[in-house]
Amino acid sequence: MAYDPDNIFAKILREEIPANRVYEDAQTLAFMDIMPRADGHLLVIPKTQCRNLLDASPEQLSAVIATTQKLSQAVMKAFGADGVTIQQFNEAAGGQEVFHLHVHVLPRHEGKSLRPPG
Ligand code: 5GP
Repeated sequence: MAYDPDNIFAKILREEIPANRVYEDAQTLAFMDIMPRADGHLLVIPKTQCRNLLDASPEQLSAVIATTQKLSQAVMKAFGADGVTIQQFNEAAGGQEVFHLHVHVLPRHEGKSLRPPG
């Protein structure tokens, strides 16, 4: 499917709309989810155009996963979490709402459920 350069995360990348940015390197950006389902819920995206995992190059995948691992370790430490859930959705039928590849990093605490979306 085609990439829409006017999706919300593309606008965040171009700094056309604000985001609480927490990490950036040459290939990836991470920022806090606007409707967090857990304390410390953040999103990792590639800086280059990519609709979702189905559309990603090996370079985009490895960069996003490397940043996801690094930030999972950091956010677990920062929030005193016991674990982390990594979530990723593809196409509307797969639960995707924003059509720029992103990975959810959700710090988890023993016995505590995620808040519902929205
Ligand atoms: P998904 O496509 O993975 O189903 O959901 C998109 C995620 O992006 C949701 O968790 C939603 O809260 C988050 N989101 C949607 N719009 C914005 C926005 O403008 N800024 C930020 N930081 N997060 C957003």
